[in-house]
Amino acid sequence: MTEQVRSETVAKSRGVERVIAGQFVMDGAGVKINRVLTQPLQRRLDPFLMLDAFGSDKAGDYIAGFPEHPHRGFETVTYMLTGRMRHRDSAGNEGLVTNGGVQWMTAGRGVIHSEMPEQEEGLMEGFQLWLNLPAGDKMRAPWYRDIPAEQVPRFTLDSGAVVQVIAGSSHGVTGAVQREGTEPVYLDIELPADAELALPIPSGHNAFIYVFRGEAVVGGKGIAQARMAILDNAQGADGVRIRAAAPTRLLVIAGRPLNEPIAQYGPFVMNTQAEVFQAVEDFRAGRFAA
Ligand code: FE
Repeated sequence: MTEQVRSETVAKSRGVERVIAGQFVMDGAGVKINRVLTQPLQRRLDPFLMLDAFGSDKAGDYIAGFPEHPHRGFETVTYMLTGRMRHRDSAGNEGLVTNGGVQWMTAGRGVIHSEMPEQEEGLMEGFQLWLNLPAGDKMRAPWYRDIPAEQVPRFTLDSGAVVQVIAGSSHGVTGAVQREGTEPVYLDIELPADAELALPIPSGHNAFIYVFRGEAVVGGKGIAQARMAILDNAQGADGVRIRAAAPTRLLVIAGRPLNEPIAQYGPFVMNTQAEVFQAVEDFRAGRFAA
């Protein structure tokens, strides 16, 4: 389902406010991760809470996976470039995310799940994004969807750019998942060397880029491989113009800020400390698996 669409124009591009290298962390049962969007950036990149990039051909970096653990109050979006990850949760859902596939999970009032690699060798590469829920939706019923690669809408532009629309819409192409409230746009963009892409982004939305191949340039600033660039919210900017300094592949992620208090304790993200304590108590009392 690759369609050719017309390029758009951006009159005034956002610039790069800050380039971020991320932090290597161990999570789950010992999975090596580059945490690109960390807790101190949650306010700045509201409604996004976390972005992890994982990519390794050493089984020891990922094989232990993420055994059973809880979530409450937000959504997790797993995008698997290469590899196989099996998901099982307390709501009775089970699925396999493979090459190019996406798994979208709304934890809502509570989910206990496991995310385990189903490969013993070879490259495993992908991303997990955490998207916050508006206060009024944090205790909603859990929701879950597996989106195989062939169901992720994609389009090409004259410049040779190939865009996959995981969430939101771009150039009139509607993505796999839509969300009211946070209005997330999640794009995987492949650019040939020297290609330029003009991408409209609603002003007021927070936006960032993560380059995972090659090098991108925005407003004269280079963004190297494995770097995230926070895009500024310059007044009057109607989008961003991105140029590829080499064959490049990157994520563009943007959303409408919730402007609500964020209280996080590990896998629980609520609005107040009291709600977080309640989440811990509910989990300990076994009220998540219902
Ligand atoms: Fe999880």
